[in-house]
Amino acid sequence: MRLHVASRNAGKIEEMHRLLDAHVAGVEIVGLDDVAPYDEPVEDGATFADNALLKARAGYAATGLPSIADDSGLCVDALNGMPGVLSARWSGPPKSDARNNELLLAQLADVPDERRGARFRCVVAYVDGPGDDDVLLVEGVMPGRVIRETRGSGGFGYDVVFVPAAAEPHTSAELASAAKDAISHRGRALREIAPQVARRLAGGGR
Ligand code: IMP
Repeated sequence: MRLHVASRNAGKIEEMHRLLDAHVAGVEIVGLDDVAPYDEPVEDGATFADNALLKARAGYAATGLPSIADDSGLCVDALNGMPGVLSARWSGPPKSDARNNELLLAQLADVPDERRGARFRCVVAYVDGPGDDDVLLVEGVMPGRVIRETRGSGGFGYDVVFVPAAAEPHTSAELASAAKDAISHRGRALREIAPQVARRLAGGGR
């Protein structure tokens, strides 16, 4: 049994492997770097689900293997849900986490503490055929708030400015990676989809 994870992020691939292995032993996970190169789609969808599906469908079309992909970002209440799907490139090219965080903090400078709510969202898509029924989609959310400075040295992206409600008063950049996985949007989505993927890989669950 082989599963293609349409990602080059070794951490994501490893996490998927760990979660799936708990449900079906012996699944071989192959990442983007393990398959023949193909034209990867531009992530221009309006939603996380659109982008996750774009990537998973392209992965299935190119490899013929059941394929999984995710898309995620930070949705800030006071910015009507932005940066959302634009999270990675919020401050324009070239992509820079430091400039993204600087811009976000500047945009929220006048927003009082009680209105600084935000959530990380992650949608994971699984595709094992060309039809509409050949798709699984799940979403994971990590609610919290945006602080006024940067804190911590772990994680990536907006972790240094985000305090998860489940980790008060620490930022997600101050959590050990296992502690972040346990409450994160990505961890939640992967844990929810893992048994469903396992069933499909084993030939059932439709
Ligand atoms: P992607 O889904 O891996 O492409 O992530 C999109 C962007 O959302 C990243 O570049 C980050 O800016 C932001 N993001 C997604 N998940 C996290 C997280 O767990 N911590 C911090 N930033 C994140």
